[in-house]
Amino acid sequence: MIPTKLYFGDAMAMLREVLPESRVVVITDENILRLYPNLVTQYEHIAIGCGEDIKCMDTVMHIYGELMAMGADRSTFLLGIGGGIVTDITGFVASTYMRGVAFGFVSTTLLGQVDASVGGKNGVNVASFKNMIGTITQPQFVISDVTMLGTLPERELRAGMAEVVKSAIVGDGELFDYIERCVSDGNCYLPEYLQYMVSRAMNVKMSIVAEDERESGKRRLLNLGHTIGHAIEKLTHDVNHGEAVAMGMSLIARAAVRLGLFSPSDAERVDALLLRLGFDIAPKVPMEEILRATRQDKKKSDEYINIVLPVAIGECVVRKMKFEEFEKLFV
Ligand code: NAD
Repeated sequence: MIPTKLYFGDAMAMLREVLPESRVVVITDENILRLYPNLVTQYEHIAIGCGEDIKCMDTVMHIYGELMAMGADRSTFLLGIGGGIVTDITGFVASTYMRGVAFGFVSTTLLGQVDASVGGKNGVNVASFKNMIGTITQPQFVISDVTMLGTLPERELRAGMAEVVKSAIVGDGELFDYIERCVSDGNCYLPEYLQYMVSRAMNVKMSIVAEDERESGKRRLLNLGHTIGHAIEKLTHDVNHGEAVAMGMSLIARAAVRLGLFSPSDAERVDALLLRLGFDIAPKVPMEEILRATRQDKKKSDEYINIVLPVAIGECVVRKMKFEEFEKLFV
């Protein structure tokens, strides 16, 4: 695996330094084009719409068509500027167009910077199935400019914080302490705080992916809170991904306490931090429904489930257990 280079700072200046000499085509969305016209329009560009429905093969086909009409060839460099939807689509198009062209990202959402832009997964949805088709191909670079997070709606910013907290619990106890201190300071979204949090969280993900790019083992750790979170997200339409992951992390932390793996005081720290960040940690749907949806979501071929459990703040384990055993942790 060729490691992705991570850059932090002013996107405009960074691009001048890191882009190759070759032809560059930007893929972005309408919001980014409207908010950052100077950044985008200095290059040839293709703007797609916004929202999860856009992350589909129709959009991919549209982009292939535009690239062919432009005469883009194997030497063209694709630059995705946007959140997770733009970077997933750009990565997918780049890794398939003419059997693969080089690509990189300017990641513009907190969730994108700490999660979607790194790790090389480039998925698109098919009907209501998320990321059903995709590739694992690493971008050459990711630029994270935290000043761009200033235009992100607060709810989107908070959703990204759930993934920062997840990274801290999975692999960086010091990052967890840092977030606690930032929250106590009254504004954890100051650019200098965000810059530190993004770089630490990215490092957690990158070091895990370096050991297990294709998710046959250690990479599963990054799913902390996601198994239950996905079920909550499906059942409650007004809860976004980060909000559902926050609920999932709280529930799984308490399950780990019941298994004797995690201390009650650490589980309380997790809940306290999520609450202070403004997350609701109690799902609005009954636990039986969440468990039923979890079982369906896993499309289980056997009765086992791999579940990520915290053993300390900064350390998690993956445990394979029978689904019935897993269910008993929540009654
Ligand atoms: P998104 O890309 O839809 O961005 C959220 C919204 O914010 C969009 O409307 C976008 O136009 C807007 N936006 C982006 N940057 C902005 C900025 N700086 N200022 C103002 N508005 C801005 O959503 P997201 O949360 O970044 O990503 C979600 C997607 O990421 C999902 O499709 C998910 O499946 C995917 N994802 C992928 C991975 C992976 O490993 N590839 C990991 C996690 C999530």
